[in-house]
Formats: sequence, C-alpha cells, structure tokens
Amino acid sequence: MAAKEQVSNMFDTILVLDFGSQYSHLITRRLREFNIYAEMLPCTQKISELGWTPKGVILSGGPYSVYAEGAPHVDHAIFDLNVPILGICYGMQELAWINGKQVGRGEKREYGPATLKVIDDSNPLFKGMNDSTVWMSHGDKLHGLPTGYKTIATSDNSPYCGIVHETKPIYGIQFHPEVTHSTQGKTLLKNFAVSLCHAKQNWTMENFIDTEINRIRKLVGPTAEVIGAVSGGVDSTVASKLMTEAIGDRFHAILVDNGVLRLNEAANVKKTLVEGLGINLMVVDASEEFLSKLKGVTDPEKKRKIIGNTFIHVFEREAEKIKPKDGKEIQFLLQGTLYPDVIESISFKGPSQTIKTHHNVGGLLENMKLKLIEPLRELFKDEVRHLGELLGIPHDLVWRHPFPGPGIAIRVLGEVTKEQVEIARKADNIYIEEIKKAGLYNQISQAFACLLPVKSVGVMGDQRTYDQVIALRAIETTDFMTADWFPFEHSFLKKVASRIVNEVDGVARVTYDITSKPPATVEWE
Ligand code: GLN
Repeated sequence: MAAKEQVSNMFDTILVLDFGSQYSHLITRRLREFNIYAEMLPCTQKISELGWTPKGVILSGGPYSVYAEGAPHVDHAIFDLNVPILGICYGMQELAWINGKQVGRGEKREYGPATLKVIDDSNPLFKGMNDSTVWMSHGDKLHGLPTGYKTIATSDNSPYCGIVHETKPIYGIQFHPEVTHSTQGKTLLKNFAVSLCHAKQNWTMENFIDTEINRIRKLVGPTAEVIGAVSGGVDSTVASKLMTEAIGDRFHAILVDNGVLRLNEAANVKKTLVEGLGINLMVVDASEEFLSKLKGVTDPEKKRKIIGNTFIHVFEREAEKIKPKDGKEIQFLLQGTLYPDVIESISFKGPSQTIKTHHNVGGLLENMKLKLIEPLRELFKDEVRHLGELLGIPHDLVWRHPFPGPGIAIRVLGEVTKEQVEIARKADNIYIEEIKKAGLYNQISQAFACLLPVKSVGVMGDQRTYDQVIALRAIETTDFMTADWFPFEHSFLKKVASRIVNEVDGVARVTYDITSKPPATVEWE
C-alpha cells in the first residue's frame, strides 16, 4: 500500500509502540474513544520507515527488564520527531535507561491498585485530575531521576511515579492509565493526545466513510474490479457495502451456500444485501458439493479442513465466471480483516521471535494472484458496528452474534448429513427466536444449538420415542478468550425445550451447557 494512502496519513495519529504488554492495544482503544486515531506498531519499528509523521508517541509497558541482555529498545529517532512522548511502565523505564540508566529491580513488586499523588497539578498531563487510584504492574523501578527530568507525581512505592523532561514534552508514568482500574487514566491519555500533542479529535466513522471511499477509489483505479466473499455476518457485509459505495458494480460479492448455513440464511442474505443494500451479489448453491465431501467424516478438524478447502475451490471457480467490463482479470480480493487480527499479527512477541503474519486469506491470494483490499483493517469491532449503522445496514445484522466459518457442520457432532443439519438448524432457529423475543439477544455474546448424535428414550403421546439430543449453549464474554455461560431463567429454558421437542422431529431431549471457557471452548467441535 502506498504510504500516502494510509489512514495514518489522513487523520492526526498517535503512534503506540508496543513492547509486548498485554494492555498495549487498550492504549489505542482508549484514544479512539476520544475520536483520536491511534495506531500500534512493534517497538522495533524504524522511524525512517514509518511513511507518516505521528502527532505523539506512546511507549507501552512490557514484560522485559530494560537492563537485561536482549531487552527490546526503541529507535532513538523518536526523539528527533520533536513530538510529545509518553512512556508507560516499561516505556518510562526505557526513557530512564536511555537517560542515565537509573533502573533496577524494586524491593517490592507492585501489582494492583496504588494511589497517585500529583505533585505538579499545573502540568497539562494531569489537567482535571486529582489524587486517584491507578493500576500498577511492575517489578522494576526507577532508582533515581533520569538526567534532565523532574518528578511530577509519586505513589507510596514509586517515588518517581510520574516524571517529565525539564524542557521537552517527554513524560514517563509508572502506572497503566489504559486499564479501567486506573480511575482517571482516560483523562490522562486524553490530556496527552489533545492538550500536549494537539491531535485533532476527528476520528469518527462519519469521517472514516469519506476518507475510506476515496482511498478505495484511488487504490482500485477507474476500471479495475474487485471480488469478495460474504457470509451474512457484520464484517463482510459492512466491507461489501463500503466497496459498493466506492465502486458500485465493479465490486462482486459472492455468497457460497455450503449447505451448513443457518435456516433460510442464503435467501435472507440475498434479500438484505441485494434488495436492501444494492450490493452486486451472486449466490452460489454448492450445498450438495460440500455435503458429499463431508460424507462419513466425523473428525472435527477434518470437517473444518474440508469446508475450508472446498470453499476456496468453489470461490475460485465461480470467480472465474465473472468477466470484468474492462476485459482484464479481476485484480483485487476484498477481505474483512479487523484491527484485532492486525494487532495479533504485529504485536511484539519478543526479540528472538519472528513476528507472526496473519493468515486470514487462506490460499486464495496465492492461487488467484489477487491484491488484497482490507477496508476494515484499522477498525475495532464496535467501530465496524457503528460504521454499519451509518451505512444503513439493518440493526439486527449489525448486532448479530458471530458464526463460525464451518457453520452448522461443527454444531452437528459426528457425521454431517442433510437430515442432521436440518434438525440442528430448526432447533437453533427456535432457540434464537425465543432469545430475541425475551429481549436477551444483545446481552448474550453468542448462542446456538448443537445436535448430539446420541439416542435417548422419550415418551410422546403415550408412544415410546428414541431420538437424539439437542444441547443449547449461550455465553457472555468481552473478548471470546474467556467466557461464562448465560444464566437464563428456568421458565425460559422450559419454554425453549418444550418448543424444540414438540416442533423438531428427531429430538427427544434438550440440555443446557453450563461449562465456562476454559475449560470448554465456545463451540462444541
Ligand atoms: N517488566 C517491567 C517491570 O517489571 C515493566 C512492566 C510493565 O511494563 N508492566 O517493571
């Protein structure tokens, strides 16, 4: 991507250099909440290779000790940018290390809350703040002031809890303002970005739409064409709508019906995307092809691989049928990559480890010689949802729960057949319908029904039945890394169970999954 086409060249941007702290991405997150664009890059980033000029630089925390051999260090060119710098925890220790090396092991590790005592409340970094609770997480500390710095805040265990350079806007703080436990942390980050860096607070999705549409137009040019897969989920729909706004029918969306989508999904997606949103969509019914490949397969990993590979095969075959108006080949592939995937691939994993690249695109790029276009690459999920609302995407779709790529195939345990998929689909549909009716959909992060291929005895209308089991799952989570099951009212579960057994042939029993993650995963396979 040409440097001038980066979002960081279109909005005032704060550069966050990541030293590997588990909280680094939260710094970016918080700044975006004040409508300030921030981008995270590994601490090894060479400033000369940046391609844009930040309004300010934040050095994150990190698990290393600055004095240890092999510890990561920042490119000293950040000081030549002449913009404000804020070092957080390891970031502050790094500033001290560069200016006199007064860093060592503390007598006491400090993990958890501490009280920040502001010494110099006229300092713009502390504007509107008073003594407050801050979150600490460190074992090393400053044993003295770095050369040319003075103290502006202390805490019981950290005499140099806040420092600033005597003449330059270079700050260090020992605590983590980016975590919510630091009660006034947001104010501090905002002070840094707005009062000290003078970053414009214009990072809004309204502004993003315009700049992104322009960026896509420049990138694609006046005649080239783009393809992309849609799934019925929020990310691919928002990305497709944005492409359509930018280049109209030169964008071709493909929905592959793999036979394991939700009940009536292909038809519903077609209606919403084509009629509602004007997206140039082709629906390919490949359900027989997928189901025949899944025949006799019970291993979850094999199912996932078959579906992934068949998808690539079908997508490529159908893409070949599209004949661009300029007589050339399709040149771009749209991908709904989000910022957390990017963060995952660039976050600093240690000096000896190579940084992982992300593999969101499967084999499509190599095979098809396509260039990648990722309009949501800079956005967090909630920003994508906001963007979706602004682009007129229906509320229900914008707030839809995530759905796995292998779909119902991994929610039908054991062999996947058309009949089994039908049972799982119907049960799932009833369950989700009731969740929506009860007004619980938005409180739950993900809910679905699974079909367990075990037979169980029942009695219906005085007749003995011998049928399968449906397991219901509903979880609450913020990041899907850990999750807890949702505490439904008994009356709700009673109603759903009775509807499923009565309305879905082949089901004799319904159970509710009360396992958290870990030890269980969200999906059953
Ligand atoms: N590893 C450093 C320490 O223990 C920095 C910790 C951090 O940045 N959270 O002090």
